[in-house]
Amino acid sequence: MPLALLAGCRVQTVPPTAAVAQAAPAAAPTPVEQPVPESCAMLTPEQYRVLREGGTERPFTSELLHNKAKGTYVCAGCGLELFSSETKYDSGSGWPSFYAPIAKGNVLTKLDESHGMIREENVCAGCGGHLGHVFPDGPKPTGLRYCMNGLALKFVPAETTGE
Ligand SMILES: [Zn+2]
Repeated sequence: MPLALLAGCRVQTVPPTAAVAQAAPAAAPTPVEQPVPESCAMLTPEQYRVLREGGTERPFTSELLHNKAKGTYVCAGCGLELFSSETKYDSGSGWPSFYAPIAKGNVLTKLDESHGMIREENVCAGCGGHLGHVFPDGPKPTGLRYCMNGLALKFVPAETTGE
């Protein structure tokens, strides 16, 4: 099954609820019928740089850094659920941090030996997009710190997830 999801930038599969979450009272135009060929087209250049080119956003720049609302953090590239607000904590690093993914199979880990360091890179299981890195200095119960680029994530408030 995951193989079908690994094909890269595919058609956006985020349910309409995600659009509802962002719908402003009247000012914002509703992006319903726009012919978007693939999800990559919906990424900003900054998001593209992180997700598709493995870039890192500048610390303390993410709107999600101090977001304490209940909800789910999904991949900005494909909409796959990645983290729950329940595992988010303030690591002081300047990047949104979590101590566990929402499901092990959703956040993949691979070795990253770039920049003269050996790190564990996290990628989205849905689209292969770069999310951030995981470090062994997190809080209990996992002892892990998933150090994420806020640009790679999209927050879906709890009211709209239907849980
Ligand atoms: Zn993804």
